[in-house]
Amino acid sequence: MNTPSRRSILTATLAAGLVGCGSQRSEEPVVGTVPPTGGSVADGKQALERLLAGNARFVVAQEQDLDEGIARRIAVSKGQHPFATILGCVDSRVPIELVFDQGLGDLVVVRSAGGALDQSVIGSLEFGVAELHTPLLLVLGHQRCGALDATLKALDKPTDHPGKLGYLVDTLAPAVRQIAGKSGDRLTNAVHANVTHVLAELRRSPVIAPLEKSGNLQLAGAYYELDTGKVTVT
Ligand SMILES: [Zn+2]
Repeated sequence: MNTPSRRSILTATLAAGLVGCGSQRSEEPVVGTVPPTGGSVADGKQALERLLAGNARFVVAQEQDLDEGIARRIAVSKGQHPFATILGCVDSRVPIELVFDQGLGDLVVVRSAGGALDQSVIGSLEFGVAELHTPLLLVLGHQRCGALDATLKALDKPTDHPGKLGYLVDTLAPAVRQIAGKSGDRLTNAVHANVTHVLAELRRSPVIAPLEKSGNLQLAGAYYELDTGKVTVT
């Protein structure tokens, strides 16, 4: 019996998923047919306001009654119209949809340790803003980020990291180096410097830059405080 390899199944599934995300063929799901939970947003400013309103609910543990039932699931299976693309950290304490109290089909979420940028991360963010047309691209740093803490320590005392951990540290290092000589908590400074650095890098993207220039996309940075659950735009 000729069994397809795990890799070929994965490749076929990924290809089908991408077609489903972006194709305009009539028998395929169409982008933009199903509004996000709270309805469509007019622009990046409104998208940011909706995120912050969701976070305010999260802070006081009064989340909205999200429709995650079968009907909503089927509706978004036929199309999506997310209102924000967000880059966050992989930290288990900062799950993006929960932090902003958003549901199925609402957000494009990309996560990497420390929000480290590589080609896949940048391409995924470009996909969110250019193909799924979100009017907001938010970069979210967070309090006591372990990836940035590890980078700080590695810069203090060079360490051999196994696997690809060294790659992560190398990727985050340019932002962390920028905090040299600054007063205050080093790790907090590193988180803020990283958000600033990531936003500057994303503005070099030939996909993202023109969208921002045309006014169709807003870029923003934000900081999540583990202690309170609160997100502050920086
Ligand atoms: Zn982190």
